[in-house]
Amino acid sequence: MKCLWVSFFAVSLFFSDISYGQEVAISIDDAPHDHSPTMLRPDRLSKIIHGLQKSGVEEAIFFVVGERIDNAGRKDLIRYAKAGHLISNHTFSHRHPDKMGAKAYIQDIQKNDEIIRHLPNFVPLFRYPFLDQGKSSETRHQIKKALDKLNYKIGYVSIDTADWDLNEQYESAITTGKKGNLDQLRDVYISILWEASQFYEKRAQGLVGRPVKHVLLLHENALLALFLNDLINHYKKNGWKIIRASDAFNDPIYSRMPEVDKDSSDSILNQLAREKVFPEPYSSLAEKHDEVTKRFQATLLR
Ligand SMILES: [Zn+2]
Repeated sequence: MKCLWVSFFAVSLFFSDISYGQEVAISIDDAPHDHSPTMLRPDRLSKIIHGLQKSGVEEAIFFVVGERIDNAGRKDLIRYAKAGHLISNHTFSHRHPDKMGAKAYIQDIQKNDEIIRHLPNFVPLFRYPFLDQGKSSETRHQIKKALDKLNYKIGYVSIDTADWDLNEQYESAITTGKKGNLDQLRDVYISILWEASQFYEKRAQGLVGRPVKHVLLLHENALLALFLNDLINHYKKNGWKIIRASDAFNDPIYSRMPEVDKDSSDSILNQLAREKVFPEPYSSLAEKHDEVTKRFQATLLR
């Protein structure tokens, strides 16, 4: 379906918070996706591949959901891999560990592993769907033990984001016939990711006391396809260096599972902060649903 949104001349002067020296890798969850209400699958795929290439991202990492891999999905993943990007495990059915139970959840990881292990550029990293490791310590340890046995490391994120929330609101608006300003939407997309990045960078400085190699959470969706290049350029303009995913995951902050006594569905930085009982807040304003909604609503044409 053709995008009905209207593009006006972009005015993007609102990002003035300049900082230098940070490094970030690009991670993209939930591939492969079928067509969405706003974008056909081949269009999204080629926009993402070209966006990564154009903005100089040599190696992003895609966390893959096995039950979505049909013939077209397999071809998409191979194209990502041939473009130099990594393929990793995001379970077969994308569910919560507490809803499935640890045993079934581990089988779900193994089932996906058997499907994706033979794809080019596969690397044994595992990203929990919804970043949810399970509420009980026992569940978390059972799953971690199984991952160790499979020689997997955890594919943590350091920068948690609400890109998926904004994308859902955008697609729902298009589906119901609303129109909006595409340039304003681009600015909102970049703002929610950039503000989250600033928040977690500050957290890293306070917590780790040295620059960390960040891993940014993105999703394979229409907004990524539309704005990837602008997003990466924004990071670069503000002094951030885009690094390879395999380089980022060598940072020692990703090497162990923190002991948290409650919610573990979070950035590794927040998990480490919870372990040390760091004070609130644990998220940037731009991650909150009400704030994302407010910013999105402002892009709609009246
Ligand atoms: Zn996911």
